[in-house]
Amino acid sequence: MATPAKTHKIRMMEQQLQKKLNRQVVGSIVGCVHCGMCHTSCHYVLTHPDDPKMTPSYKADQLRKLFKRNHDWTGRAFPWWVGADKVPLTDDDLTKLQDIAFGTCTNCRRCTFNCPMGVDTATLNRIMRGLLTHVGVMPEGVRVVSKDQWELGNQMGVLREDYLDTLEWMSEELEEDLGHAEATIPVDREGARIMYAINPREVKYDPRTIKEAALIFWAAGENWTMPSEGWDNTNFGLFSGDDGLGGTCGQREYDKARQLGVEKIVISECGHGYRSTRCEAVNWAGEAQPFPMESSVMTMLGYIKDGRITVDPTRNAERVTFHDSCNNARSCGFFEEPRELLRLVTMDFQEMYPNRAENYCCTGGGGAMSMSEYTPRRLKSAKVKADQIAATGAKIVVTSCHNCVDGLNDLIKHYKLDCKVMQLVDLVANALVLPTRESGAEPATVPGEVEIARPAVALPLAGRTILVVDDEDDVRVFLKAVLEDAGARVLEAADGDEAIAVATAEKPDLITLDLSMPGKDGVEAFTELRRAPGTEEIPVCVITGHPEFRTVIYDRPVAPPEGYMSKPVDEDQLVENLHRILDLEAKHVHPTN
Ligand code: SF4
Ligand code: SF4
Repeated sequence: MATPAKTHKIRMMEQQLQKKLNRQVVGSIVGCVHCGMCHTSCHYVLTHPDDPKMTPSYKADQLRKLFKRNHDWTGRAFPWWVGADKVPLTDDDLTKLQDIAFGTCTNCRRCTFNCPMGVDTATLNRIMRGLLTHVGVMPEGVRVVSKDQWELGNQMGVLREDYLDTLEWMSEELEEDLGHAEATIPVDREGARIMYAINPREVKYDPRTIKEAALIFWAAGENWTMPSEGWDNTNFGLFSGDDGLGGTCGQREYDKARQLGVEKIVISECGHGYRSTRCEAVNWAGEAQPFPMESSVMTMLGYIKDGRITVDPTRNAERVTFHDSCNNARSCGFFEEPRELLRLVTMDFQEMYPNRAENYCCTGGGGAMSMSEYTPRRLKSAKVKADQIAATGAKIVVTSCHNCVDGLNDLIKHYKLDCKVMQLVDLVANALVLPTRESGAEPATVPGEVEIARPAVALPLAGRTILVVDDEDDVRVFLKAVLEDAGARVLEAADGDEAIAVATAEKPDLITLDLSMPGKDGVEAFTELRRAPGTEEIPVCVITGHPEFRTVIYDRPVAPPEGYMSKPVDEDQLVENLHRILDLEAKHVHPTN
């Protein structure tokens, strides 16, 4: 049978591919050795184990074949050898490619982090999406959303008057709630320090988050504004692979910020909005980074650390876990700030595993929520995420991404999980201690104009006395610094005898105990402390560099230690563990709390 001739669309895609080739792209195309190490990092593979078409290398091979056929001598000389004889030729082939590029990959980049060759499969997949959209081949949802973003300036088709009406509505509610004429949402305020750009989902489905952000800005005495145009921080160009749309979306925000003369853009909690506005759109738009841009997570954290707002974490007492948005975490290295903020505004934070760069996608990423034809496959792949969440026992899954909110809500409903999704702005607003409401002081409306009397920030170990026992001076110095930063009063002891003496005299709330020490070692000291009236109930967290002592300490004929950590300890993990031990202890001693 004669081989069909390439269609016009295929030829256009080949020409377009030529424009996308750079060192990073070619490196990922030629770098794959088909070792298979990335395969089990993909949530589609884990949930479709018998389907080889779900593997990252298979997905990326679709672009590889096109490349080899046109840009590599092996493909021209021996096409059958490198798979270049199987390039798409007909429009039916393009439908299959659409299914692969849009329906079997959320561009989450988890496989990239597990590839020894550094192959960026998600980038190749995005390029394939871009080639397809270039010739008009895309899911209907992608077509509609892209059109709205091109024509109306936002991806949810929100009309300008509806956007402004929503801001006015939220502004009036805020003013009414607080009874303060300055508690409003300023629009197009020239010379403001901050321009706040949001996700259109907030206008359309969740305007509460706009009001919460406004409340926080007001409490911080921030000089801020929301723009009447260029307000959509999202960017469907990232998902569709259309760099033209991507650059235009970013440019709208940059132009407006320039016109208003603001110092920086603050991007509300949206993973792909943050990645595209701050990191990618400057490249697509072809301009240098115009001014600083940050996520509202950094802004809120800064307000607490600088004492501009005060929070009470007891208002968020339920167990929370954190879902890393793929775009924030894997693509922008934005791991620790949300955790730091979470620890300041909640009482019981439980990591899900794996997390940070190894976290699994919410499965709604890469524009998946707009492609309803792939919903059954997406929800099947979401089993991995559902299991991750269920294992934490958390009642609240926190995420800093509106897209993830939708993806997580969908899988929570599908897998009937007993939890809900919230964002950090919800938790910070809920924990906010308002000076007018609780101390009678007036908040400032412009930074620096009025000194605000604020109570101290509630640090996780505030009010606690902790005895640090370790024979190494530098370890004690390190632990003391970390614990004092977390609000604790720290006592020190360099051996077992000193530990018993200090503990007996001072009755600390908790003891961190090294095991291997000269003189009376930690095991002996622990046993004596547990047997002595007055110290027997003090919780102990063992911190040791000798794992061989683990069995010994747990085999003592006394109650086991409440915590155990191996050296070197991670600062955040240490504070988190001690906070949890003390919290549990408080609940045990005062069961009505
Ligand atoms: S992308 Fe990397 S890990 Fe995956 S098959 Fe290719 S070389 Fe191996
Ligand atoms: S980017 Fe994510 S969804 Fe796509 S192949 Fe890699 S792991 Fe799978």
